[in-house]
Amino acid sequence: MNEDTIAAIATALGEGSIAVVRVSGQNAVDTVAKIFKSKLDLREVPTHTVQYGWIVDPKQDAVLDEVLVTVMKGPRSFTAEDVVEISTHGGIVAVKSVLELVLRNGARLAEPGEFTKRAFLNGRIDLAQAEAVIDLIRSKSDRAFQVARKQAEGALSKKIVPMRQQLIELLAHVEVNIDYPEHDVESVTADFIRENCSSVLTQVNQLLIQSNEGKILREGIVTVIVGRPNAGKSSLLNALARDNKAIVTDIPGTTRDIVEESVSLSGIPLRLLDTAGIRETSDKVEQIGVERSRGALSDADLTLLVLNHHEELHEDERKLLEQLKDRSTIVVVNKIDLPGQLNIEEVERDYSKERIVYLSAKEGQGIEDLEKAVSGLFFSGAVESGDITYVSNARHIALLHQTKQSLEDAIQATHEGVPIDLIQIDLAASWEALGQILGDAAGDSLLDQIFSQFCLGK
Ligand code: GDP
Ligand code: ZN
Repeated sequence: MNEDTIAAIATALGEGSIAVVRVSGQNAVDTVAKIFKSKLDLREVPTHTVQYGWIVDPKQDAVLDEVLVTVMKGPRSFTAEDVVEISTHGGIVAVKSVLELVLRNGARLAEPGEFTKRAFLNGRIDLAQAEAVIDLIRSKSDRAFQVARKQAEGALSKKIVPMRQQLIELLAHVEVNIDYPEHDVESVTADFIRENCSSVLTQVNQLLIQSNEGKILREGIVTVIVGRPNAGKSSLLNALARDNKAIVTDIPGTTRDIVEESVSLSGIPLRLLDTAGIRETSDKVEQIGVERSRGALSDADLTLLVLNHHEELHEDERKLLEQLKDRSTIVVVNKIDLPGQLNIEEVERDYSKERIVYLSAKEGQGIEDLEKAVSGLFFSGAVESGDITYVSNARHIALLHQTKQSLEDAIQATHEGVPIDLIQIDLAASWEALGQILGDAAGDSLLDQIFSQFCLGK
C-alpha cells in the first residue's frame, strides 16, 4: 500500500453547483479531520457515512465553506485505501481553496489517473477496468461513453475471466498427463483439447466480431462502389443519398485525394469512397477502374458490385465477381425495371442469396433490401438486443487476436498429432494473452494457478 496520501478535485472544473475534493491514503481521515468542524470527530465516525459541517482553516480560524464529508475506509473504497470526499458547493474558488488547505495539511496533489492506478495496484479493479476509467474520462461521443462505462463496470472482464478459467482447467489436465503419465488419470485426448480450445475460440471470435461492429457504429463502413460503365453506380450513390437526405460530410481526402460521402443506411453509417468513377463526369471516359481502385478496394470494409440486369455478364464483370467473392461484397443487380438479360446463375455460383440484391436505382426501388443485406453482413443478432460488449481498446483487440492465433495453433497441432507438451505451449500463450487484458503478470503465476486448482495428493 502507498505511504502518501493524495488529493485532487474529482469533479469537472466549471460552473457546476457542487464540486468534490477526493482524498485517498492512510492519512486521509486525519488530514481532513484537521480542517473539518462538525458535531462529531471525523476520526470516530463509522465508515460509509456522510457528515455535515464546515471546512475551517485552522491557522486563521476562518470558515471556507459549508460541506458534506463522506468517509469510506479501505478496502471498501474506490482505491481500496481510506478515502474521504469533501462535497463543497461554493463554486470554483471555494473548491480550490479547500483543496489547497487539504494539501497544506498532509496530502500531496494526485497525478492524473493516480486514484485509478492505486485501485489497480491495490487489486480493486483489473487493468481492463482501469483503462476503461481512462477511456471514460476521455470519451467524446455518447456511444463511446457507454462502451467505456460498461467496461469500467467490468463487462469485458466478466467475459474474460471464465474463458481463462476454462483454459487453466485444460492446462491442469494436460500438466497432469505430462508429469504423471503413469498416474491413474484419464489421459488427455486430442479431442478433449480441441473441444475446449474451440469453445474458448468461439468466445474470442464473438468479442472480435462485436469489436468490429462497435468500430463500424463509431466510424462507419468504408464502402466502394464498383462496376462497368453505365451499370448505374452514380445512380445508386444518388439514390442512397436522396433516400437518406443525409449527406453528412463531403470531405476531400488529404492523403490520396479521394472524395468521401457519408450516408446513413437505416442507422448504419456508410462512408462511400469515390474511387472507380463514382463521381465521374462523363461515363464515356470511365474505365472499369479495377487497377485504379485496387488500393481503395483493399482498404474497404464493403464493396458494392453493381451489375446491369438488362445486359448479359461481361468478361470484366466475371473477373470482378471472382476477385471479390471472398470479401465483404454485395452484388447489386440494378435496373430491374428493365427486362432481364443477366446470367444470374453464374453469379449465384459464388454468391449466396443474402449477398445478391435486386433494385432499381432509377426508381428508388429495393433500397431496403440493400439495407438488410448490409446489416446481415456486418451485424450479428446481438446488436439489436443491446447486450453487447464492444472491445474498443486497441491493446485489448491486439491481445484478443493473439489469443485467437494461439488457440488456432493449438487446434491445428491436435490435428497434426503434435505431442501434448508442445501443444501446452500454445495453450499457455493463449491463457497469458487473455491475462494481459486483465493486467495479470504471467510467468510463475501460471504454475501456481495450475497447482492451486489441482490437488494431486502426492
Ligand atoms: P455508372 O456509369 O455506373 O455510374 O451509371 P449511371 O448511374 O451513370 O447510369 C447509367 C445510365 O443508366 C443512366 O442513363 C441512368 O439513368 C441509367 N440507369 C441507372 N440506374 C437505372 C435503373 O435502375 N433503371 C433504368 N431503367 N436505368 C437506370
Ligand atoms: Zn457513373
